[in-house]
Formats: sequence, structure tokens, C-alpha cells
Amino acid sequence: MTTQLETDFSFKKSTSKALAYDQQHLWHPYSSMKRPKESNDSVAHEQAVWPVASAKGVYLTLADGTQLIDGMSSWWCTVHGYSHPRMVKAISDQAASLSHVMFGGLTHEPAINLAYKLVQLTPAGLNKVFLSDSGSVAVEVAVKMAIQYQQARGLSGKTKLIALNKGYHGDTLGAMALCDPTTGMHHLFSGLLAQQYFIREPKIAFGQPWNDDDIEPLRECLEQNHHNIAALILEPIVQGAGGMRFYHPEYLKQARQLCDEYDVLLIADEIATGFGRSGKLFACEHSNITPDILCVGKALTAGYMTLAATLTTDLIAETISAGEAGCFMHGPTFMANPLACAAANESLSLLIENDWQGQVQRLEKGLEVGLAPARKLDAVADVRVLGAIGVIEMNAAVDMKKIQPACIEQGVWLRPFGRLVYIMPAYVMSEKELEGLTAGILKVLKSGAF
Ligand SMILES: *Cc1c(COP(=O)(O)O)cnc(C)c1O
Repeated sequence: MTTQLETDFSFKKSTSKALAYDQQHLWHPYSSMKRPKESNDSVAHEQAVWPVASAKGVYLTLADGTQLIDGMSSWWCTVHGYSHPRMVKAISDQAASLSHVMFGGLTHEPAINLAYKLVQLTPAGLNKVFLSDSGSVAVEVAVKMAIQYQQARGLSGKTKLIALNKGYHGDTLGAMALCDPTTGMHHLFSGLLAQQYFIREPKIAFGQPWNDDDIEPLRECLEQNHHNIAALILEPIVQGAGGMRFYHPEYLKQARQLCDEYDVLLIADEIATGFGRSGKLFACEHSNITPDILCVGKALTAGYMTLAATLTTDLIAETISAGEAGCFMHGPTFMANPLACAAANESLSLLIENDWQGQVQRLEKGLEVGLAPARKLDAVADVRVLGAIGVIEMNAAVDMKKIQPACIEQGVWLRPFGRLVYIMPAYVMSEKELEGLTAGILKVLKSGAF
């Protein structure tokens, strides 16, 4: 047995030694653990990770001192940039007084303040807040709420959900069962995954003329199966990880009406879109609707801690509580972690003080101007911008072995997937920085290094 746990891994001392240990022992998201035969093995290369030593504002600093401008906001999260003094102070102050305490039978100021802020900021009517540790768990919680609600009102046959093709809702089993069946590779887990109803994704893009045909697949599915259906789950307006697609607000409006008509709940997964990213504080506002259940995460703490929330209405919460169980059946160990709540409270204050709407509008203009020249490139199928999200859709899947090093050479951090080269900058990114970021991307695309 080892009694010695002192480690010797330091980027300063030997980056290659630390990276070698990483490669042999650490999973990364959707990564292969195939052992590289030689150092230049193609798998090793494909799975390359870059060692980041620190980050400040919109820049990542690598172990060798290279500065990269961050186009990803660490997957929608770091809206105020890295190492923000106010965020750091809020977390360290909280750590000094109460880092964690069980939420069963106890409560604390950070959680109560956060509940107040979330109830105030989210669409009207969402008054009950369930705090959890990650987006996927917030989706699990939403699904369980929908099922318990239907059971509590005597509709225990309503056990299924409707989800959209090209949707993404997380990687845990319940959430995964709601992701696009093809890109989510449902066949790998078919013995275990819940079978849900999938309908064609909305086809009419944001800004295009509306046509009622787009909502027909949903109407048909509800018409035929509403007796079995507890809820419809969707990402409002922006389908994120499933394709970075922006769809027509009328779709969401009519989906809301159809859910009411067929007595089915509407779950809005705003884990990616929440807190301003799409140009509205919540993407549901593009259609002026309130969902029955709302999931938020990602930017909730501006990327400083892991936290998510599931909000619902008084009616649903009270109905669940009057049901057989007498309570909502979920209670994670780290529920309402005070450090995470303190980070969220400070991030939400900054969002308002910084005029997030002005920031996002400025980025939207900058993205439109900066990415427009990509439309002329033969390899590019489409360029689209909504709020602080910019997408270049290529004709063919990009080669990560080529495009990622090429971006790094330009001083840019991007993480394209499939045919999508996309950016979602921190709201604090300046006009000049954004110009540099989009110019770097265009240079890579023009060089053909993809
Ligand atoms: C990222 C994401 C999730 C999952 O959140 P995790 O924190 O990664 O579990 C769920 N839904 C949407 C729309 C997301 O973008």
C-alpha cells in the first residue's frame, strides 16, 4: 500500500512528464484511452490536450507561456471572463465562512439569496427552485418532477417524454435518453435507456418566414400519444451541442399552446441559452412563453463553480407535494453548495451591473461583421449569428488534428465539432479582441488547415 501521496507533476518542471501521466490515466470529455504506441501515433495526436496554467479575462495562458484568446467561454460558462476579482472574492469570502453544509434540515443565506434572484429573473410564474450540481442532473430532476406531477394528479399512464431530433440534454442516462438518438448513440445503451418519443427537429431557421408545417410533427405526436406523455422537453430557440441550430420563435410559441391543449408539461432546457447568450436573458423570451419547468446551469456561476437549477410553478410543486410520496424524491449530497451559490449570486449581480444586453448586442454585431467573410469560402456551407453565438457550418467535418493546432498557432482557442466551427465569447470581450478572434479563425479557414 502506498502511504506516500506527494506528487511531482508540475508544468514548470516538466510539462511532458505531466502530460504523459494525463494521457495514461485521465479521461477527457468523449476521449479515447487507447494507449499510443509511439509518441507520434495518430491516436495520441488526435487526443492531444494542451496544458493550461492559468487564465485571466478572455485569455488562457498555456504552460509554455502562450496566450490564447478564448472563443469558447469554456462551453458557454465564463461570461465574465476568467479570474474576475469580484468572483474570486465572493468565493474566497464564502469559503472562509461556510464552504459546504448539508441542505437536509439546514439552510443558508447564499441559497436563499440565489432562489430570490432566480425567481426574479426567470419568466413569470416559476417560483419554486431546486438546486443541483450539474446540467444533466437538473434535467433528471425536471423529468422526475414531470412524472411525479402526472402521478400525483392520477395520470400515472403519462410516463413518456417527447424530445426533438438534434437536441442535447446531457450525458446521464435519463438525460441521454432525450438526446438525438443518432449522435447520442442510443444503440450502445439500448438495453438500459428509456424509450422516448422523438420528432423531427424544427426546420425553419430564426429570421426566416414562418410556415405552420414546421409544427406538424409535434402536433401529430401529441394527437396520437398524449395519454402516455408527461412532458415535451426542448432547448428553446437554440439547439446547442446537437447542431448549433437557431429555430423560429413561432415554433416554441405553438409548442407551448399544443402542450396546454394536450395536457402535457413543457420543459425548457436553458442550460446553454440561459443568462443572455441568445440575446434575451432566457431564450423563452423570444417567444414570450413561460415553460412549466426550466433548467439552467452552465453560465449560472459564470463557470466558477458547478451548479444548476430546476425551476417550476407553484401548481406543479404543490401537486407533487400532495402526491403519494408527499415530497419530491430527490436530494443530492451537494445540493445548494454554499460556495457555488455565492458564485452564482455574484455572477448574476455582475450580469445586471455590466448591462449584459448591451454586451451581447455589441458581440452580435461584431460576430456578424467578423464572420461574414467566411460566407465566401467554398468550404463553408452557412454562417449564422444569434446573440453572442457565432457559427460557421462547414460542408464537411473538420479534422481536429489540423484545425486545433492551426488555431493555436493563431493564438485562438476553439473546439470545433463535426462540421461546426463556432464561438461564444465571454460577454466582457472587447471589440478589438473579438476582431482579433474572428480574424484568426478566418485566417485558419483560408489557409485550408481543417
Ligand atoms: C451542457 C448541457 C447540458 C448538460 O449539462 P452538464 O453540466 O454538462 O451536465 C444539458 N442541456 C444542455 C442544453 C446543455 O447545453
